[in-house]
Amino acid sequence: MNPTRYAIVPKHPAAHLFEVTLTLTDPDPAGQRFALPTWIPGSYMVREFARNIVTLQAFNEAGRKVRIAKVDKQTWQAAPVKSGTLTLRYEVYAWDMSVRAAHLDDTVGFFNGSSVFLAAEGREDAPCIVEIKKPAGPAYANWRVATSLPEARGTKRYGFGEYRAQDYDELVDHPVTLGEFELATFKAHGVPHDIVIGGRTVNVDMDRLATDLQRICEAQIALFEPKSKEAPVERYVFMTQAVSDGYGGLEHRASTALICNRADLPVRGRPEMSEGYRTYLGLCSHEYFHTWNVKRIKPAAFVPYDLSRENYTSLLWLFEGFTSYYDDLMLVRSKSIGEVDYFGLLGKAVGGVLRGSGRLKQSVAESSFDAWIKYYRQDENSPNAIVSYYQKGSLVALAFDLAIRASTNHKKSLDDVMRLLWRRYGRQFYRGQPAGVGENDVKALIQEATGVDLGALFDEAVHGTRDLPLAELLAPFGVTLEPELGNGSGKPSLGVRVRSAADCTLAAVHDGSAAQKAGLSAGDVLVAIDGLRVTGANLDALLSRYLPGASVEVHAFRRDELRVTRVKLDGAEVVRYRLEAGDKARSAARTARERWLRG
Ligand code: ZN
Repeated sequence: MNPTRYAIVPKHPAAHLFEVTLTLTDPDPAGQRFALPTWIPGSYMVREFARNIVTLQAFNEAGRKVRIAKVDKQTWQAAPVKSGTLTLRYEVYAWDMSVRAAHLDDTVGFFNGSSVFLAAEGREDAPCIVEIKKPAGPAYANWRVATSLPEARGTKRYGFGEYRAQDYDELVDHPVTLGEFELATFKAHGVPHDIVIGGRTVNVDMDRLATDLQRICEAQIALFEPKSKEAPVERYVFMTQAVSDGYGGLEHRASTALICNRADLPVRGRPEMSEGYRTYLGLCSHEYFHTWNVKRIKPAAFVPYDLSRENYTSLLWLFEGFTSYYDDLMLVRSKSIGEVDYFGLLGKAVGGVLRGSGRLKQSVAESSFDAWIKYYRQDENSPNAIVSYYQKGSLVALAFDLAIRASTNHKKSLDDVMRLLWRRYGRQFYRGQPAGVGENDVKALIQEATGVDLGALFDEAVHGTRDLPLAELLAPFGVTLEPELGNGSGKPSLGVRVRSAADCTLAAVHDGSAAQKAGLSAGDVLVAIDGLRVTGANLDALLSRYLPGASVEVHAFRRDELRVTRVKLDGAEVVRYRLEAGDKARSAARTARERWLRG
């Protein structure tokens, strides 16, 4: 098949418009159809990227206009052209500073192919060539290109010019950053990795980033390929946009697009591990793990992706939850953080799951299936209605790992499960053998990899809503799990989440809480407790003057109407759990724990 040719130029940075041209040498004689994806893999929500296409025209080889009309919200059909090429020219509005879509202004350009490149229907398997053009003007003289998309002959690395992809699926799986950015490189088991940081930053310790990420990447490569240490990619790019307040990442087959707080990046000359930097490394570790788990080991429902509509799978607990388990575990195994820090992170995850009563109503399998309409479209009732397949999924992974280790005398572990998944589904995925994990295959795969039948633990963890027996499972590793009282021991609470420190607008009211019993709702603006002004910032301090069970008078606005209500305060809320290792220096439990945390 002749290649599909694309060219993209940041045409009007001030108006946030990319201009894209798409040329086919042999369009469908019956009238070529084109479509834009409605979602981006990794972010399970219909986003209807076609709404950002502002103008679109089609031309024949002679440069004359060809009639083109919309067929549905994301599809166009051109009138038949008798011979020669068919060219589309269209503008895409790009003003989404997230990792999921496209953004353009005079400081940075960023795009995912799924937001800017129309697919020519019936030609998805054709190779693609994309020319990335520099914006006009001296202000852009120092702009460069960062992407894991392979360069075509004649294009220098980080240069504007032609890039290539084997097919449309690959074209839209390599995001592209344009602009001025900081750059560091390192090799992980021989494979080059780039770290690209865009946005205005000061004194970022790029050397430390390279050292820390190299350790994490090498630990992950060794987990999946303990003998050969073969990385799943020929080159990898960590692409980060630093902003004042942001967090997020999206995985791709040979790169990740990340957004982080600029304050979280490490500072030259300050070697301490800040909480922000640990969070950033955890995010990098998470997205890198996806290079195996979901970009190559995939649910059968994603093979291939159908980008025109929702793709349902009940396995996101495996692809996101297990990835969330390994992201922090890899930090401790690569010695980026210590055991105490790691247990702190686990305790937070346990608290995060146990805080919401939604966990008693939805299983992680259901949460996965309904991600499109629930996890990705959360509202004020979400804590009472859903469970996170990320957070609970990571605890499911923990439970399975501990159970496998305990019942095989620590000879097998979840690592063996990941390696079997990798061998069977992942390693050859882009080498001509695309196959995915069946919806009901995981239990048997665990048994095949480890010899352990997880039985009722598996069924309850994945399909049930009872809390996981984590304390029991942690005991053989010499680790205790205890609740930690949130706003101090014995202090009462309303059972709410507040939107911001500035005022006391309720973001969520937990099921069965003091606030709910008193008729308070999400959206209510609390103004006073017993006649004293309340804000998000001083709520805990005000409540700490009372004992649990005390009755207070609350003034609140709903739809600007003042209401007065009496609230009988709850006991303290458990917001996190404390995990502690407390065994003797030389014990079986300690040895078991070391094998778990050192890999
Ligand atoms: Zn993820």
